[in-house]
Amino acid sequence: MKFDVLSLFPNYFQGPLSESMIARAQKSELLEINCVDIRDYCKDKHKQADDRPYGGGPGMVMMAEPVSEAIRAMKTSKSKVVYLSPQGKPLDQKLAKELSKEKHLILLCGHYEGVDQRVLESDVDMEISIGDYVLTNGCLAACVLIDVVARFVPGVLGHPESSANDSFEKGRLDCPHYTRPQNFEGKEVPEVLLSGNHQEIDKWRQKNAFLQTQKKRPDLNLVLGEPNNE
Ligand code: SAM
Repeated sequence: MKFDVLSLFPNYFQGPLSESMIARAQKSELLEINCVDIRDYCKDKHKQADDRPYGGGPGMVMMAEPVSEAIRAMKTSKSKVVYLSPQGKPLDQKLAKELSKEKHLILLCGHYEGVDQRVLESDVDMEISIGDYVLTNGCLAACVLIDVVARFVPGVLGHPESSANDSFEKGRLDCPHYTRPQNFEGKEVPEVLLSGNHQEIDKWRQKNAFLQTQKKRPDLNLVLGEPNNE
């Protein structure tokens, strides 16, 4: 899967995209991530990519020409162009899974007051928000989107079933997890997890995922039914 990330800050991505699983996925060529500087598509010698808004008011607006040129230079018949925006469709697991089926995502990161509306109308397929708050620019939102989408690209997670029990996968949160030591400051690991009885362990995990969800996120649509209280 290929991502072209269009922004005014191509160096922004050096940290988040060169660590851990996303770095490994690029090395093993499951992902290709290309960070593009929109200023490379500015025609004037000062590389001006923003200007004052028509109608007045504070802030600057990213200019239509360089943004549009950058998108069109990357675009093929297989591309989907996404503008990261607080006004977009909220990003969740379902949307991430759908996007992971795309061959090529072009991610447009805004800055200042945002991007000239005419580009959004002519060149963008979809607007996506990572939450109901406003960031200074779209780079962090693009990193979040790449990370969550990449987890659904086959081969990116070590084990194909790793994400199956994650929070939100079955309308509920994940169960609690434990590792060594068996006793930490007087707190013991639940005994069933040491039993080796996989049926009982599965039952415990389901029940505790349910309880965890009831306690922390009662608004989620539970699909597990009542927990088995045996
Ligand atoms: N004036 C815009 C508004 O209120 O809708 C906000 C512009 S914001 C300061 C600058 C850029 O950050 C946006 O163009 C967008 O790319 C990005 N951004 C901010 N919040 C975001 C969010 N919640 N999700 C995705 N992108 C966001």
